[in-house]
Amino acid sequence: MPILAKTHPEVPEITTPLVRIRDPLFDDFDIQVYIKREELNHPHIQGNKWHKLKFNLKAAQKEGKTALLTFGGAYSNHIAATAYAGKAHGFNTIGLIRGDELENRPERWNKTLQNAHANGMKLAFISRRDYRRKAQADFIKSLKSEYPQAYLLPEGGSNPLAIMGFQTVMQDLERQCPSWTHLYTPVGTGGTLAGLVRYADNTRPRNVRGVTVLKKGEHLLPQIQSWIGTDPVVNWSLLTDYHDGGYGKLSTPLKALKSDFERRFQIRLDPVYTIKMLAAFYDELQKGLLPAGSKVILMHTGGLQGNSDGFSAR
Ligand SMILES: *Cc1c(COP(=O)(O)O)cnc(C)c1O
Repeated sequence: MPILAKTHPEVPEITTPLVRIRDPLFDDFDIQVYIKREELNHPHIQGNKWHKLKFNLKAAQKEGKTALLTFGGAYSNHIAATAYAGKAHGFNTIGLIRGDELENRPERWNKTLQNAHANGMKLAFISRRDYRRKAQADFIKSLKSEYPQAYLLPEGGSNPLAIMGFQTVMQDLERQCPSWTHLYTPVGTGGTLAGLVRYADNTRPRNVRGVTVLKKGEHLLPQIQSWIGTDPVVNWSLLTDYHDGGYGKLSTPLKALKSDFERRFQIRLDPVYTIKMLAAFYDELQKGLLPAGSKVILMHTGGLQGNSDGFSAR
């Protein structure tokens, strides 16, 4: 299947910087720390959302679809990314947004929704009750008959083609730092974690740690496991205790950590995902869970568009 080829001819190879950050604390523990700057991978669809979309866009074209239909909350980076990708690649886009309270009230739309709309996305607001049915077979079937021209992307954009999108990220990273030992990445659906685990070089000692940003993250495990598949892979685990109160919630200490990190290293973080990964890393470091000599990668998955919504102030 050409879509599985190592270098897809129609998707340009992207390489992003791997940046070492220095802190006396890292010297105390005798570890090295690097940020993989995937937030720089695409000017508009930055971070993991581009990797998840790239092969799906090809598949949609191949199937002759003229529209992309997907789901998300009002702050969804995936909604923003799909709207932009549709415009750039010639698809109409339809976003089914959780919660009908914003229907017919565009004056109350946040920046994510305003930008999606400006990029041509048709926004349809659905009740939370209907939204919960979004992955059920009968609901999908009715959507397919209502929108026969649409290619359906699940919430967060995670599906098998999305997982494959992370192969290029791992190839890039393995080339830049073949001796890495630990990698932290934030987790929403777990698609990104699954892709990174699946394509990491399993002939070397590695530990990949996914940090869930929602409560009850352990529910994601079976799905993540099925995306990873049954081939032998590197060690990985899901850290479920760093959601800091739940999706979109950010405590005062984490707000302080975010601004301190941004000021010291001149790298911006997003308030929903990457800051919680960073907090998990620091906590594990201070608990002595990272042995001397570790080379730690922090995956910057993007999401900076979310900063404009003032989410961290909630
Ligand atoms: C969507 C998103 C995630 C979560 O990705 P999943 O593949 O759903 O786990 C992580 N970081 C950022 C910045 C995101 O926008």
